[in-house]
Amino acid sequence: MLAEKIVTGQLTPGIYPVRAFSDNYIWLLTNGQLAAVVDPGQSAPVLDTLKRHNLNLVSILLTHHHQDHVGGVSDLVTQTGARVFGPATEVLPLCDRPLQEGDSIDDPSLGLSLGVLDVPGHTAGHIAYSGIFNGAPVLFCGDTLFAAGCGRLFEGTPAQMDNSLGKLATLPPETSVYCAHEYTLSNMRWARAVEPGNQALERWQEQAQQARNHDQPTLPSSIAQELACNPFMRVRQPTVAHAAAQWAQCTLATPTEVFAALREWKNNFR
Ligand code: ZN
Ligand code: FE
Repeated sequence: MLAEKIVTGQLTPGIYPVRAFSDNYIWLLTNGQLAAVVDPGQSAPVLDTLKRHNLNLVSILLTHHHQDHVGGVSDLVTQTGARVFGPATEVLPLCDRPLQEGDSIDDPSLGLSLGVLDVPGHTAGHIAYSGIFNGAPVLFCGDTLFAAGCGRLFEGTPAQMDNSLGKLATLPPETSVYCAHEYTLSNMRWARAVEPGNQALERWQEQAQQARNHDQPTLPSSIAQELACNPFMRVRQPTVAHAAAQWAQCTLATPTEVFAALREWKNNFR
């Protein structure tokens, strides 16, 4: 159930979407009276959710420096005193604890235990958080991995992004994937063009359409779903490589070249 649909009262421990801008999700993790948020691009919707459910914000987790992910940080810190975690190599409004691959965050009172992965590509210093919340495997991947898609390469190369997604591909398949945008349906229209014969993708698209018809998020997805359906996670599948070569009208010799062609295809897909 959506946090914003509940009028008042304590939330059961879990992860809730707080909507921001037109298609961002600020993920709110809560356990008892405590809460953390990931990538608060705006403060007002978070403050409103905290107030309605009588929650104390203790931690803010950032994945990368873009304004739609960090715009609410300063105000939230002023209002709540929350601690800010973020990528060590990016310029952020505030950061109490700079993180890089191999670092971890443990907050037993929240039921949170996450490790940090360096996932450059969308931005040069982008990080992802993966581990356990509330007893289940989770991934907060910002704008690196989207359901059936991936982030645009603003500061990185296809080889870097392919390598970053390769790290995420090794996570447990049951890991819930909390992406930062609701891009799923448009990604899936393109993914169907890449792999028209992918039945798992076809079934997932029907479910996602149902969710959007009811104004529900399509997220989280799972690593298993992404491995089965996301062309950017499938550059080594012959069907995907062949489709990319057909679109590019040239031979693509390496997975990196396939990845680069897919990214171009998606950028130009209408
Ligand atoms: Zn971004
Ligand atoms: Fe974004």
